[in-house]
Amino acid sequence: MPYKRNVRARAVYQEPAPILDQENPFQSMMERFDIAAEILELDPNFYEYLCTPARIFITAVPVAMDDGRLRVFQGIRVIHNEVLGPSKGGIRYAPDVTVDEVKALAAWMTWKCAVVDVPFGGAKGGVICNPRSMSDGELERLTRRYTANLIDVFGPERDIPAPDMNTNEQIMAWILDTYSAHARRTASAVVTGKPILLGGSQGRTEATGRGVMTVTLGAMDRLGLRPSQCSVAVQGFGNVGSIAAKLLAEQGCKIVAVSDISGGYYNADGLDLQAAMDYAAANQRTLEGFQGAEPISNEELLTLDVDVLVPAAKEDQITQDIAPYVKAKIISEGANGPTTPVADEILNEKGVLVIPDILANAGGVTVSYFEWVQDRQGYFWTLDRVNRRLDRIMRRAFDNVYAASQKYDVPMRIGAYVLAIDKVASALRMRGIYA
Ligand code: NAD
Repeated sequence: MPYKRNVRARAVYQEPAPILDQENPFQSMMERFDIAAEILELDPNFYEYLCTPARIFITAVPVAMDDGRLRVFQGIRVIHNEVLGPSKGGIRYAPDVTVDEVKALAAWMTWKCAVVDVPFGGAKGGVICNPRSMSDGELERLTRRYTANLIDVFGPERDIPAPDMNTNEQIMAWILDTYSAHARRTASAVVTGKPILLGGSQGRTEATGRGVMTVTLGAMDRLGLRPSQCSVAVQGFGNVGSIAAKLLAEQGCKIVAVSDISGGYYNADGLDLQAAMDYAAANQRTLEGFQGAEPISNEELLTLDVDVLVPAAKEDQITQDIAPYVKAKIISEGANGPTTPVADEILNEKGVLVIPDILANAGGVTVSYFEWVQDRQGYFWTLDRVNRRLDRIMRRAFDNVYAASQKYDVPMRIGAYVLAIDKVASALRMRGIYA
């Protein structure tokens, strides 16, 4: 495809770009934003408005630790944009989370919601902590104090958190309870990804992996591949990776490799996924020591001779050092930001079909939207209804992004950005900027 990474757009609209740092997720996001802005001939005032986060909160989160000490963690919440509706985005607990990373993730939420036509803006949160070294009690106190500090930010019609890396439905339940205690009423719609008993939705836990499966089948179809002919490698064996692997296997694909933080596990004849999932469940969510597979490194996994590669761990995994050796025909981005802009260019030149994160993993926010709708109606849907509606939205979004990429002769990632930015900019034009 005649597509080139391009920093000219930024020069047209703003100061010339600084030297690009591919490890900075916000700059990665901006590089794609710039290309789409140029294609759309975006009004320079809109450009500046749309790439500036609406609000950034940094808050000290004191926690009484089990050993009697007090530790103060740093909590972050970034609201990128609220033009399409209340802001929505997960919360990540990790020792290396940064404000720039959360800013990028918040912006990706804005574009993701627009790609799947969900009426939300984008946000993201993080707490700099090492959840693996914290007890349940410490995690509960951390979550409650973080929520209390952001009590005026969160709200069913304001900003609605959800799970992300190292946060789960128990943590969402604590957010719901803390917010409700302050609000003096049970406010189920303040958070999504919570337990079904507390107003969660059927199908939410599987939704992101299910969406990855749906768009991957769409891409196979475009390339004339049948699932039963396809081998798949999945990086990351958490919520997204393990479910995507399981559902693709159910469609007939052969999953030859999976990995997690402990390394990769390869079996050319296909892995026993149920055994791997059971093993991880019984071993503190890690595959370390899993038998029935040959150990490989995470780098080896990314360059295996497979038809489909699903990065479902974290950002900046497929870099310019890895991309030349990628052999997959399709990359389906379960994770947010797994491919750097330079790697993107290399993959494009090699003719790899990359299904971008803001499309591929949008199943999670889609069912989060269903959950929020159900909470507000007080009426809950069956799993079948959730899955049918999710599949329909993901198929339509895939077709729309594919059509945009054909129309503008750009990779699907830029097609997705063009669709999303055009939609948010159109809404902004109607609302006007209160300046
Ligand atoms: P998770 O915490 O459940 O799982 C993450 C997995 O990645 C774990 O298996 C972990 O061991 C593995 N991992 C971490 N670092 C790794 C590395 N360097 N190499 C290989 N594996 C590594 O998280 P998740 O919810 O599955 O999220 C994974 C990605 O998907 C993140 O980028 C997240 O932002 C994105 N995402 C998640 C959702 C969702 O609904 N959970 C929705 C959209 C996007």
